[in-house]
Amino acid sequence: MDQGTIYMGVDVSATAVKAALVNAEGEIYEITQEAIGDDPDAILDGICRSIERLRERASEHHWPIRSVGVGVPGLVNVQTQRVEAAPNLPALVKVDVTEAIAERVRCPVLIENDANMAAYGEFVCGAARGRANVIYIAVGTGIGAGLICEGQLYRGALGFAGEFGHTTVDPDGLPCRCGNRGCLETIASGPNIVRRARERLFRDRSSSLSRLAVPGKGELTPERIAAEALNGDDFSLMILEQTGKWIGIAVANVLNLLNLDMVVLGGGVMAAGELLLNPIIAEVKRRAFTAMVAHCEIVASLLGGQAGVIGSAMLARDTFR
Ligand SMILES: [Zn+2]
Repeated sequence: MDQGTIYMGVDVSATAVKAALVNAEGEIYEITQEAIGDDPDAILDGICRSIERLRERASEHHWPIRSVGVGVPGLVNVQTQRVEAAPNLPALVKVDVTEAIAERVRCPVLIENDANMAAYGEFVCGAARGRANVIYIAVGTGIGAGLICEGQLYRGALGFAGEFGHTTVDPDGLPCRCGNRGCLETIASGPNIVRRARERLFRDRSSSLSRLAVPGKGELTPERIAAEALNGDDFSLMILEQTGKWIGIAVANVLNLLNLDMVVLGGGVMAAGELLLNPIIAEVKRRAFTAMVAHCEIVASLLGGQAGVIGSAMLARDTFR
């Protein structure tokens, strides 16, 4: 079977490296995942191990790898290809990821912000295919976003555009790892959903989650909250509804600013599905211009957890065409 040219996509998150071999149509042939710690050498080793493993698989099948795209959770300088800030994985700033990877693979390597990569994936072969003006928002350990403007990935002056999670939504809110206070991320990211739930559960013991509110007594996670909400737990539903409201405020601002065709929501926290999506849509309707809301579809990601690897492979494909 002729597989044509193959592209490698790598998605580095705060906790794991995912890597995939993807064909020119964005279909995944092979995918690997491994956990990483926050130590510069360990991260680089993890990334390179994943790449090496897939290179071996590709050569077994005689699939030529044309390029490698690597999405990282940080601000990537488009000129220097260096990570200049990474609040959720600070070790990335200390190493030259591009050079370390380029040394190991004999093909072009592109480093880009992880949410930009996922946005590109949804744009090329996911929920936003055929749309020209799109924001993709990933709600997970952090909150990232990538923008497609007029059919192109919008990077801004330095390549840092799309830091949606660091939009101020509460002027007197908690300090954020970016240095600001009251960022959306300090309220609506996975760890902060858990923090808010835990704080309230100490006061309200009626929820089926209250036994998990005490540290050490089982694990309280965003997935757990979503599962309890699906089971009809009022407290969990209320936490998701409030989270959706905060995200919706920030989305309404972006919509009024950019007049988008589509908002795509992804990331681990979106496993809650409509229980989170519906309150987001309701809040956007309440706040943004009616005509802009009527035009804009607000949907869940189609590629899910694979948007990052697919987008990374596809952006590298189109960059080194
Ligand atoms: Zn921030």
